Amino acid sequence: MSSGLETLNVHLAKAQPSTTYQMMDRVAARRASGAAVISLSAGEPDFDTPKHVCEAAIDAIRAGHTRYTPVSGIRSLREAVAEKFRTENNLDVQWQDTMVCNGGKHVIYNALAATLNEGDEVIVPAPYWVSYPEMVQMVGARPIIVSCGSDSNFKLTPELLRRAITTRTRWLILNSPSNPTGAVYTREDLSALAEVLLEHPHVLVLSDDIYEHLVFDGATFHTIASVEPRLQPQTLTMNGVSKAYAMTGWRIGFGTGPRWLLDAMEKLQGQQTSAASSISQHAALAALTGPRDFIRTTRAVFERRRNMMVEALNTTPGLSCQKPGGAFYAFASCAALIGRVTPAGIVLKSDEDVAIALLNEADVGVVHGSAFGLGPFIRIAYALDEVSLAKACDAIRNFCQSVR
Ligand code: GLU
Repeated sequence: MSSGLETLNVHLAKAQPSTTYQMMDRVAARRASGAAVISLSAGEPDFDTPKHVCEAAIDAIRAGHTRYTPVSGIRSLREAVAEKFRTENNLDVQWQDTMVCNGGKHVIYNALAATLNEGDEVIVPAPYWVSYPEMVQMVGARPIIVSCGSDSNFKLTPELLRRAITTRTRWLILNSPSNPTGAVYTREDLSALAEVLLEHPHVLVLSDDIYEHLVFDGATFHTIASVEPRLQPQTLTMNGVSKAYAMTGWRIGFGTGPRWLLDAMEKLQGQQTSAASSISQHAALAALTGPRDFIRTTRAVFERRRNMMVEALNTTPGLSCQKPGGAFYAFASCAALIGRVTPAGIVLKSDEDVAIALLNEADVGVVHGSAFGLGPFIRIAYALDEVSLAKACDAIRNFCQSVR
């Protein structure tokens, strides 16, 4: 008889582990067995954190900034965050309207955990980043997945939004540029969604802007609370330094929203993790207040890689891909590979089979689209140098040509 020792929280038990991490682990395991895998699975910039940011962290240690900080972050960083939201996003924000958390994920989790009750609904447009529905699920609420296919460029439309809203809806999660599709919502897209949202003041909006600076083709980034300022009281706009400044390991995310929400998130964080690392906060301050050339340079590099990847994918038999407007992901349909047989004799029944076969037979790590709520696709993170990308493209092409 079971002692019950291993009984888990019922909501956690139902949630899935993070597929992006699972794929990174599979890549690591295959590398450990001696294979030279090129990983296009991890969604993180391949650049080093800028030198002046690292120096600021070292200075912070030397200056003794090694103790607890206020739960919502040090005043100077919150001021810099407020200034960022004012100048880059045209939002009306004072430092008291901001909060710093242990990474972007933590901002989102805090907000959901602070507000959701059993039976509450959260609208999650699919394809979605793997963690949104699971976080909703983990706090006992219901993710309402709204499928947004390639015909709407993988974007939520006002009609789909209107149909998904019920009296139980508490949040809508928006993510632009999107992980996993790279789709970018234009000002017009957001304004049309805002019109629907204004009719439903009981719905909060979580705008995940973490890929803000990676928008290509000369396009301008927009966030919903600045497109429609009347939405600001019901919007949590979140961002962080991970993607813009290649600081994924530093774990600094931040957000701005109504004070009642930030107070609740602070209460939660104060009982849970306390503030983010004091040293990382000083590093983030240097990133936000320092030179901007890193952002410009990396954007240009990612745009070049995007062009290269899309061209390669669209000339590979069995794959096809829309041109993503931002982030560092390509989301390619692999529908034409389903039902085929690999050289190792594996029948490709799903996009997950395609991803696993690419890893085992082509030594390329990608993540299957169904993990993001839409198959059969594969997500390719092109956050890697161009030589490695070219090798990966060749390996993918050879694999696709060899399936029967
Ligand atoms: N956001 C990245 C990705 O989608 C990092 C991994 C994660 O947190 O899911 O790959």
